[in-house]
Amino acid sequence: MTVKELLGRARKKLAAGNIEDAAIEGELLLRQALGLNRVELYLSLEDELNQQQEVAFRHLVKRRLNGEPTAYITGHREFYSLDFYVNADVLIPRPETELLVEKTIALAQRRTAPVIADIGTGCGAIAITLSRSLPQAKIYATDISVAALEVAKLNCLRHGVAGRICLLCGDTLKPLPEAVDFIVANLPYVKKTEMATSSFEPASALDGGTDGLREIQRLCHQAKGKLRPGGSLLIEIGYGQKESVAALLARLFPSTEIEVIPDLSGIDRLVSMAC
Ligand code: GLN
Repeated sequence: MTVKELLGRARKKLAAGNIEDAAIEGELLLRQALGLNRVELYLSLEDELNQQQEVAFRHLVKRRLNGEPTAYITGHREFYSLDFYVNADVLIPRPETELLVEKTIALAQRRTAPVIADIGTGCGAIAITLSRSLPQAKIYATDISVAALEVAKLNCLRHGVAGRICLLCGDTLKPLPEAVDFIVANLPYVKKTEMATSSFEPASALDGGTDGLREIQRLCHQAKGKLRPGGSLLIEIGYGQKESVAALLARLFPSTEIEVIPDLSGIDRLVSMAC
């Protein structure tokens, strides 16, 4: 069978299995099985595959049909135009989180040497994209999971920012050795009752307790001692969480400005507070 024929069949199978982006995902899986980049794949469409290659590919399609995300199968996910290594120890970066990165860059580039803390860094996507856009920034990236920090370390090395990002293991803001100008966080914020039963992603990166706000609330309380005067706190939130988070921040930081920014789908996604 040729590459093209096998790809066509896989795309049909994935679509029949309710995989939304069957065409793209089929291609990513085939590239993974054959070890080809996009151009190489398109140049080899008429090539005949050997049995070993076919078996390897079918195995990947089977894993996908079983619900495993393509990013875990291939070990790659693009975020803010950078390629990140991901595995099942970390949340797969979401496109809506680019909003948090954009807003932080806009605020931090006005400063000469900002100090930033990315809390619950996971694969390091936020800290690393910030570091690439803000080379003058000193960045701390914390996570409670040692396994996640190992993934973040690999990504720091891959993107040449290991010397500018200090990875720290610990709970929320506790490991920070100093107060910072920016605290940014994409913490778990999914309500316990809305957690998917068969998610491949780590529950610890998604589960925000009964109302989804457990970790965000803890962060807001801890932020008082760790935010420098004139600093900002930027938190990604989920659907319907804007009022609670804004009210909590207004109570904890009475003389501050709070802005809520929607994502491209119109869902309020980012709470930004400037002291
Ligand atoms: N946006 C993610 C989702 O809905 C949740 C990410 C998070 O909890 N930080 O799957």
